[in-house]
Amino acid sequence: MKAVYPGSFDPVTYGHIDIIKRTSEKVETLVVAVLNNPSKKGTFSLEERIVLLKEVTKEFENVEIDSFDGLLTDYAYKKGCTSIVRGLRAVSDFEYEMQMALVNKKINNNLETFFMASSTKYGYLSSSIVKEVSMFGGNVSCFVPEIVEEALKNKFKRRI
Ligand code: ADP
Repeated sequence: MKAVYPGSFDPVTYGHIDIIKRTSEKVETLVVAVLNNPSKKGTFSLEERIVLLKEVTKEFENVEIDSFDGLLTDYAYKKGCTSIVRGLRAVSDFEYEMQMALVNKKINNNLETFFMASSTKYGYLSSSIVKEVSMFGGNVSCFVPEIVEEALKNKFKRRI
């Protein structure tokens, strides 16, 4: 099975990496696809997010990093992916994720969405909370790999 794991990854955290690692052990190929959303300017540029993702997933041989814009269903079809993978942290993720899964299924009935439950230790972790902590000078080394921590420090240093 070839699956796509789409998201913002702004920036990638240990929560994402955990989902990538565990999914890659279950599928033949996993495409991690960064959404290029021109109407939602992220903290990191698309290129920066891709560089970080490539670096922190380089040990996983069946994981490919890519980006997409437009409809996820079109992208998945183009890439030959038959499944979408999304991570579920808490009940709060569920409503939105379920809605997206149902809409995507309606658009392309052959495309299935699989939910991967977050590991307990990362159930509270999000890119936004990591950015908030880092912005105020907090230590984020238990949330993100060193290269991401450095990138966050540089990003917020420049803004002050
Ligand atoms: P999006 O903006 O598409 O939600 P994110 O980068 O925030 O993009 O998340 C991408 C996917 O990873 C989503 O399915 C999200 O639920 C999941 N995810 C994010 N953080 C975690 C985490 N700590 N544990 C499990 N899944 C996570």
